[in-house]
Amino acid sequence: MNELSPATQAVHAGETDSLNVRPSITPIYATTTFLSEDMAQLDEALGGAGFVYSRHGNPTVAALEKAIATLENAFACVAFGSGQAALHGALLACNLKSGDCVLIAREIYGASHTLIETFLVPLGVKLEAVDVTDNEAVRESLSQSKARVLVFEPLSNPLIKVADVQSLCELARQTNTLTIVDATFTPPPLLRVLDCGADFALHSATKYFGGHGDATGGVVSVRDENLAGALRSAMRLGGAILSPFEAFLMARGLKTLVLRLREQCRNAAQLAHWLSQQKSISRVFYPGLSTHPQHQLTARLLQPMSGENLFGAMLAFEVEGAARDDVFRFMDALRLIKPATTLGDVQSEVSYPPIASHRGWSDARMKQIGLTAGVVRFSAGIEDVNDIIADLQQAFNH
Ligand code: PLP
Repeated sequence: MNELSPATQAVHAGETDSLNVRPSITPIYATTTFLSEDMAQLDEALGGAGFVYSRHGNPTVAALEKAIATLENAFACVAFGSGQAALHGALLACNLKSGDCVLIAREIYGASHTLIETFLVPLGVKLEAVDVTDNEAVRESLSQSKARVLVFEPLSNPLIKVADVQSLCELARQTNTLTIVDATFTPPPLLRVLDCGADFALHSATKYFGGHGDATGGVVSVRDENLAGALRSAMRLGGAILSPFEAFLMARGLKTLVLRLREQCRNAAQLAHWLSQQKSISRVFYPGLSTHPQHQLTARLLQPMSGENLFGAMLAFEVEGAARDDVFRFMDALRLIKPATTLGDVQSEVSYPPIASHRGWSDARMKQIGLTAGVVRFSAGIEDVNDIIADLQQAFNH
């Protein structure tokens, strides 16, 4: 290198092959391309045997995909740049054509609904919605619509209505309908939707997988090799890839997923119990409460962790008789808990559906699903539950 001019040294002198290091943690491979020993090896790599170009695959991202595929009991996991990109990729992998029907849960995450309405309906795809807590209604809709794809979430937002994932996947199988299950609220090991028969297990990895509110991403896991190929092709050609920087943060977050999730579920259960004893709270929506209509179903659906029955870390509550202004005052008075339109982080977060996930919904539409102006969504963090309760208490006093 010494005989080269400074301009050339600046470009090449730091190349790392000679360092011969073996990091104990998969590092951030911030490189767009990967070199081969010779042209024959490059030819093989381009044929799929190795890393060539980061839009096609990157070791930092691949390490995250491998970890999530393992947790999901999947054949493969494909990572995308966000949960929305992951859903888009999964829908592309279903090979939809004009005239095909996509059946969605009536209470699905709003942007999922809007994505299908905006991108697929204009291409001739039909969109229908069904109450996925009613198995008979789903059976009927599947047979009438001949849906090619069913998209739903095991736990609805924000009222935590629970779908019987196993039965729905079985019904879909009988009509040759592919199932995309968005299990963002219930990551593994709490729930492995592929074990319940789903074709695609989808997560906004922005939430529990990352867990620290610092990275945006989405993942889809599958058992079927052909679907895995179709997903990877959607990722490569659509280009909505996860960056290695985000993948690194997520892989780091993932290492404590089980610890965080267990603590978050325990906090949620204690909070739900406390909230249900407060005079100012008229309803608590949490499937861990024995009064929740789907308590038994949830106990069967969600897997115990180290022998402990857990019911998720998402809940909602209704402040008695509260209008929007009252809820605004309550949320403004919180000191510790963050009003934030996300969930699953180590910090506790509240969100107000009428201005966030259900923004633009008419009163009548909200009433149809049982959502009132007094309902607040709560995502339990890992703080000491007594501090969370104290914060809620002082804010209720407002
Ligand atoms: N699915 C659910 C259930 C969500 O709550 C969200 C985001 O809040 C998404 C998907 C979309 O994920 P992202 O924001 O990572 O695109």
